[in-house]
Amino acid sequence: MGSSVSTADGVNGGDGSDNTAGDDDRRGLVQGTDEAREVRRFWEGLGLPGLVDVHTHFMPERVLKKVWDYFDALGPLTGGVEWPITYRAEELERVGLLREFGVRAFTSMLYPHKPGMAEWLNQWAVEFAGRTPDCLHTATLFPEPGVAAYVQRAVDEGARVFKAHVQVGAYDPADELLDPAWGLLAEAGIPVVIHCGSGPSPGKHTGPDPIGRVLARHPRLRLVFAHMGMPEYEDFLGLAERFGEVRLDTTMAFTDFSEQFAPFPRRALPRIADLGDRILLGTDFPNIPYPYVHQLRVLEGLGLGDEWLRAVCHDNGARLFGL
Ligand SMILES: [Zn+2]
Repeated sequence: MGSSVSTADGVNGGDGSDNTAGDDDRRGLVQGTDEAREVRRFWEGLGLPGLVDVHTHFMPERVLKKVWDYFDALGPLTGGVEWPITYRAEELERVGLLREFGVRAFTSMLYPHKPGMAEWLNQWAVEFAGRTPDCLHTATLFPEPGVAAYVQRAVDEGARVFKAHVQVGAYDPADELLDPAWGLLAEAGIPVVIHCGSGPSPGKHTGPDPIGRVLARHPRLRLVFAHMGMPEYEDFLGLAERFGEVRLDTTMAFTDFSEQFAPFPRRALPRIADLGDRILLGTDFPNIPYPYVHQLRVLEGLGLGDEWLRAVCHDNGARLFGL
């Protein structure tokens, strides 16, 4: 994928982590095993049966490897930004780690960067969901001829969530080729986790306006704005306030890493308190430069209370996906 993953689902920024993945593929797992107790203590303390994480990445190994290569190369490319992957391990071990954490349901966020790729990814995702019952069967799409047909097929095959990446795909989400696909996803009530904020760097079609045009045409579409819309947090909160089916995921937001370059505006905290029934835990596992538990701790640190945390970390996702 080369430079095509140069905006792979995350955020560029300063070195906010002491972790170094280095060449040791098992380092994350050793750390993770110790960490599992801490993660479990978090949700047990809230009286939850576990976590629901709507934003985790599983994809064909060679695609994931390219994403990791990109993050590895970030330092030299950007003159110092480090993005060490904390959970670099084989697929089965990564799945096992989420289970150790007590993540009841997660996703396999995958996304194409060019035409002709989405169907192949969707086929892989069917197989992955088949062998991973706690994964919510995930599918993706791209503006190209035939998209409505393969989105319909994915829905028929049981897809429960879609992923779209406006920045990596470099497309306008309001492209008319996508219109029938958005329509049928709105009709089916299937959530679409969409990275459309301008973090880590703006794309031609990122930001609230293009996706706002999609919502104007499909007001019932269940979009889930990834990363809380980072860095245009308040604009995306505004869309969530206008459109009752819109949700946001917490992925990487509020972490020490992201706060260095895309700080969440404290004045907007009351708005995310009010949207507490439409905010969903997301983490970007395994492609994160800090331990998983950090995402949970920073949510706790917002001071919005246990009820809000229970909703965000479990109940909202459980309700959305009928778990
Ligand atoms: Zn992601």
